[in-house]
Amino acid sequence: MNARVDHPPRAIGCVHLVGAGPGDPELLTLRAVRLLQCADVVVYDHLVSPAVLDFVAATARRIYAGKRRNEHSMRQEQINTLLVQLAREGLQVVRLKGGDPFIFGRGGEELQALAAEGVRFEVVPGITAASGVSACAGIPLTHRDFAQTCLFVTGHLKDGSANLDWPSLVRTHQTVVIYMGLSGLPGICRQMLLHGALPELPVAVVQDGSISTQQVVTGTLTTIADKVARAGLRSPSLTIIGEVVSLHDSLAWFGSAQVSAAA
Ligand code: SAH
Repeated sequence: MNARVDHPPRAIGCVHLVGAGPGDPELLTLRAVRLLQCADVVVYDHLVSPAVLDFVAATARRIYAGKRRNEHSMRQEQINTLLVQLAREGLQVVRLKGGDPFIFGRGGEELQALAAEGVRFEVVPGITAASGVSACAGIPLTHRDFAQTCLFVTGHLKDGSANLDWPSLVRTHQTVVIYMGLSGLPGICRQMLLHGALPELPVAVVQDGSISTQQVVTGTLTTIADKVARAGLRSPSLTIIGEVVSLHDSLAWFGSAQVSAAA
C-alpha cells in the first residue's frame, strides 16, 4: 500500500474511533487497516473478530473493553476515562468497535467525553451489521417489489425491555432490521402480530454474518422464534423482517462464492 495517508503528529495524542465491520477482515476499510498498523494502543470490544485483531501492529498494546449482554467487563465511564488518559499520554489510540461506531455502538457517547476534555479524535466508518450481514445472507434490504424503506432498531433497550414504536414497525413495504434482538425475539414477534403484521411475514435471523460460522434461519413471524430456539442460535445475531427475506432462497451465495473472492 503506497497511497497517501495523513498521519497525525506523534507528539499529540488522538483517538481514532474505528468501525471494524461485521467480522470478515476483508470488509475493513483501508483507513481502518492503516490505523491498526500504526496504533500505539487498541481498545476493542467483544464484537471485534480475532481475524480483524490480526491486523493490529505487533507492537501495539491491546486492551479488551467488553461488553457482552449483562456482563460489562468495563463500564462505559471507565472506557471514556481510559481513552482520555491514553490520548493525554500522547498515544495514537484506536478505539475499535464492531460494525460502524455510530450505529448502536455508543461511539457518540465516547466522542462526547473526548470533546468535553479537549481530546482530538477522528471517526472511521465501518460496514454496519445491517448491510454486511444482509449482503452475506443474500437478503437485499430494499427491492422495488418488496420494500422502499428500511428501519434499523435495537431490540435491547436501556431499561432491559423492548419497548419499541410498534405501529411504525408494522408498516408495509418496509424492512425492519433488529440489532441485539435475539433474546427479545419471541416478544418482538408477538408485539408485531398484535399490532397488525401478517402472520406469514418472512423473518430471517443471521448468526455470525460474514464469517465462516455464519448461519441463517428463516421463517415467519409465527414460526421464527421456535426455529431459532431449536437451531440454538447465539449472539451476535441480526434479525431481518420483511418480504425481502423471501429472496434469500434464490440469492444465498455465502460459502459457495467465497473462494473466488479469496483467489
Ligand atoms: N455497531 C455495530 C452494532 C453493535 S450492536 C454495527 O454497526 O454493526 C451489536 C449487534 O449487532 C448484535 O447483537 C447483532 O444484532 C449485530 N451484529 C453485529 N455483528 C454481527 C454479525 N457478524 N452477525 C450478526 N449480527 C451482528
